[in-house]
Amino acid sequence: MRRVAVVGSGPSGVYSVAALLAEDDLTVDVLDALPTPYGLVRYGVAPDHPKIKSVSKTLEQVLTDPRVRFLGNVRVGVDVPVAELHDHYDAIVYAVGASQGRSLGVPGEDLAGSSSGVDFVRWYSGYPDVPADAYRLTATRAVVVGAGNVALDVVRMLSAGAEALGQTDVPPDVLAGLAASSVREVHLLIRRGPLQTKFTTVELREIGELERADVRLDPADLEGITAEGADRVAQRNLAVLQGWASREPRDTPCTIHLHFWRSPVRVLGTTSVTGVQAERTRQEAGGALVGTGEVLELPAELVISCIGYRGSPIPGVPFDEATGTLPNEGGRLMSAGRPVAGEYVAGWAKRGPTGIIGTNKHDAAETVAALLADLRQRPAGPQRDPDRLLDLLRERGVQVVPWTGWQRIETAEARLGQATGRPTAKITRTPDLLGAAAGRTPEPAAAAGGEAGRG
Ligand code: NAP
Repeated sequence: MRRVAVVGSGPSGVYSVAALLAEDDLTVDVLDALPTPYGLVRYGVAPDHPKIKSVSKTLEQVLTDPRVRFLGNVRVGVDVPVAELHDHYDAIVYAVGASQGRSLGVPGEDLAGSSSGVDFVRWYSGYPDVPADAYRLTATRAVVVGAGNVALDVVRMLSAGAEALGQTDVPPDVLAGLAASSVREVHLLIRRGPLQTKFTTVELREIGELERADVRLDPADLEGITAEGADRVAQRNLAVLQGWASREPRDTPCTIHLHFWRSPVRVLGTTSVTGVQAERTRQEAGGALVGTGEVLELPAELVISCIGYRGSPIPGVPFDEATGTLPNEGGRLMSAGRPVAGEYVAGWAKRGPTGIIGTNKHDAAETVAALLADLRQRPAGPQRDPDRLLDLLRERGVQVVPWTGWQRIETAEARLGQATGRPTAKITRTPDLLGAAAGRTPEPAAAAGGEAGRG
């Protein structure tokens, strides 16, 4: 029986498992650094997108296959060195995603009140050990930078109001933080034009449907722009923007302002954010984006830049600093131009942070096809005891969370939700998650941590 380790239980990891299971005579261990499965489906998809989140049901079916074991709370490269994994598995697939936010690289970016969208998403998603007061939302004006779907998620979370999240799994303390928010204006800085954004139309349309927020944009930004020659998404997005530009402004508690052709050049403030300087941009005939020298100053107390993700290195695994991915050819991990025997990569760690959840299906299929082709060339290794790694981890003091442990976490979260009149609510501290996995009831009040607030 061949044994494969898949590192990461988000969509790319689980789609890799599903592809591996098509092969008989093979078992899979899914190792995740977190005690919980599903990666960005649990800690990235916005809480008000339950339909997208429900993909976890499909992922669950794969993870509960009798030939699959979930081993949560295991950090590959830390709790178990990669070299040692080879003693236990015939092949390893890294499906670890991209966990860091890209930085803007402008002066003032590190001021209090300025942060990456990755941190904000983690906060409202109840990512383990992010303190409940990491964002206090005492700002009245917020600037969000970026023209992708993460920027739209952040704009919505800042402007939709806590009522919209009442029946979601947002941790109770985060919900209270959103309910107490003073944000009244959200300014979205988009460095290109209306036809060059990365928004998908369904997500763009959503910000125009919010009850408590009105979308405003300068009709001059749309003047002279036609959909001719643009792709279908850009055409549909333009129609949405044109609709907004021509509608009567509504009197709402919050307003969302879209600023096209604006690139941040400086975050203003001495100790904390007081505003953003954004330079007007234009695109040259060859497509290059250039500044025009005309600078707009937007007062704001909160800045969140949502300009893409990049991966983090795993100790002992080659990493491409320039792209923030694991170097690979068709999913085969590469080092100095040669494939690394028995190591593979899938998902955002392989291709960079692009595409929707479903994109990972054919991406994983390509990686697994390469893995299986290589495996067929190799003689079968010795029979290994599947519990040997678990024993080693236990000796090292690692509390491995099996699938039954995750099921106990789910039950504890349902109990926590019911205590606040909701179907479920996330437990946010690792000790509480591990306690729940071991069958101990977590203290709901222990959700908040101690780090200083960011906004
Ligand atoms: P993204 O789609 O790549 O968008 C990043 C945006 O940041 C781009 O508009 C980019 O502009 C802009 N940007 C980059 N550097 C910048 C800078 N220095 N200054 C100003 N703007 C800058 O990334 P994302 O929003 O993080 O999303 C990642 C992936 O997850 C995407 O595939 C997305 O569709 C997906 N996602 C999907 C959903 C959903 O389906 N509901 C939700 C969230 C995320 P340029 O184009 O000019 O580089």
